Amino acid sequence: MSTEKILSALGYASDETEFYAPMPAGYKPGKTKYVIVFGTVMSGLGKGIFASSLAKCLQDQGLTVAPIKLEGYLNIDSGTLNPFRHGEVFVLDDGMETDMDLGTYERMLDQDLSRLHFATSGQIFSRVLEKERKGSYLGRDVQMIPHVTGEVKIKLRELAVATDADVVFVEIGGTVGDVENSYFIEAVRELAFEEGPNSCVFVALTYIIAPPMLGEQKSKAAQLGINRLMAAGVQPQIIACRGKDPITTKVREKMAMYSNVPIDNVFSMHDCESIYLIPEMLRGAGLDQTVIDLLALRDRLQPEIDASRRQAWNDFVQRVRSTKEQVTIGITGKYTSVRDSYASIIHALDHCGAASGCQVHIEWIDTTDVTADNVAEKMARLDGVIVPGGFGVRGTEGKIACIQHARENRIPYLGLCYGFQMAVIEFARNVCGLTGANSTEIDRDTPHPVVDILPEQKQIEGLGGNMRLGGRDVQVRPQSMAARLFNGGQEIRLRFRHRYEVDPQYIERLETGGLVFSGKAPDYPIMQILELPETVHPYFMATQAHPEFQSRPLRPQPMFAGLVRAALDYSRNRGKPVVSRRERAEKA
Ligand code: GLN
Repeated sequence: MSTEKILSALGYASDETEFYAPMPAGYKPGKTKYVIVFGTVMSGLGKGIFASSLAKCLQDQGLTVAPIKLEGYLNIDSGTLNPFRHGEVFVLDDGMETDMDLGTYERMLDQDLSRLHFATSGQIFSRVLEKERKGSYLGRDVQMIPHVTGEVKIKLRELAVATDADVVFVEIGGTVGDVENSYFIEAVRELAFEEGPNSCVFVALTYIIAPPMLGEQKSKAAQLGINRLMAAGVQPQIIACRGKDPITTKVREKMAMYSNVPIDNVFSMHDCESIYLIPEMLRGAGLDQTVIDLLALRDRLQPEIDASRRQAWNDFVQRVRSTKEQVTIGITGKYTSVRDSYASIIHALDHCGAASGCQVHIEWIDTTDVTADNVAEKMARLDGVIVPGGFGVRGTEGKIACIQHARENRIPYLGLCYGFQMAVIEFARNVCGLTGANSTEIDRDTPHPVVDILPEQKQIEGLGGNMRLGGRDVQVRPQSMAARLFNGGQEIRLRFRHRYEVDPQYIERLETGGLVFSGKAPDYPIMQILELPETVHPYFMATQAHPEFQSRPLRPQPMFAGLVRAALDYSRNRGKPVVSRRERAEKA
């Protein structure tokens, strides 16, 4: 049967046909091509980094790209996942809580994504079960193939329609051989068959082990991983080999010969200084051109825009690599040993370091053992401090002690979500004299619940799916530090993920004490940004939002940028009396 015929077998498998190639309305066969990235040997190799870097190379040449991550787990979203096990929960503008890889795509492609770009088995199965109850399968028994795989294909094609993309980049979570992602592999095999020649490129990301006792690279595990993919009916056209050192020609030849992949398409993706170097590494190996040829996309390129985009990117990478001056920022947090739980914060600091010409060194502070007595010593090396998002009681008194120390000693401070709430509690207790002030999340019986559960959240039971989530407009107070950071912008947009907020009854008392609420929700009395006047403190800034999700390499997030600039000032003037930029400007 021809591809045309298969594609025209619309709708659902019936008695007339065994094909099941459901097309969302508006799908243009042939318009969108697909690059599908699998992981073999083990997870955590950086499929997202590889896929987003390759997507960036194509985007720079004028193609429209749309990434999607397919997750094998049954959760509907990542909202209830423990960041200690799974990495941070990344929040999209539309409120979807996703895997941290979506952050990698947003940063690399400088593009806001939505729920269309993220699918879990939980979502796929619920859609299938919903259709089954509606009788949509026309009397057929509902099966993994073709119905569940069909639903995966619908999801991919829906993304193609919604974004009108030239190339959809599909990242399949987990590792080839996992039971839970095997039906994704089957679905993309079917997709390639239905879409026909020059429509799909399969990439296997694999790992070349180099056991220290042998002192050489061994390719067997990688070969077996690729074999497993081929046994599922997928012939990769590109193999990317991860490893600590550049992959030797001998190993690349073995990989080529065991998997029918030309040696030029066996790419060495060895460890490098910065993930932002990978697009250039891919270009160097000619992989972007290979993909363009395999997908017959050459006539859609706009080569004239490539050079300037590449230049801007390479300037950024150069700044990341060459800066010598260092500032030290402390981050307090529950998951202090796992960098993945704070991935977006770390990236935001890197972007701002590059913009300000410094390296940001991070010092992790476990606040469970911070007290008023040892806080000065724990914070002695810091040029700035961040209290990030968090939940629950653990370590909160230590965070409050850090904030008090930063406020009283004019150490630059940035509070993110929980760090905003902690700053309000600290100020209420120590400046406004509200003894015992707290959040009801921490102490239900506090005499001063300055932070309390959002009225609209009180009715909802359970922890999953009852937060104020996603992008919201924020009205910025003119003349404030926030307004200056956002270039005078009066209405900005930030991303939120919280259940508690400042109790409006306390706003007046807090403001009388000297706290400035410089960002508010347009229609509700929800406080979203706070600051201290620059005459009191050089940089004391906090937000109920998570600005870390919005920082991009070439567009560093303003609140982080402000922190890094203030930290640089602080470090250069160590030992001298602290004067804010504003005060200095006024004196000059
Ligand atoms: N636990 C706080 C709340 O629910 C803060 C949440 C966060 O930091 N993301 O409001």
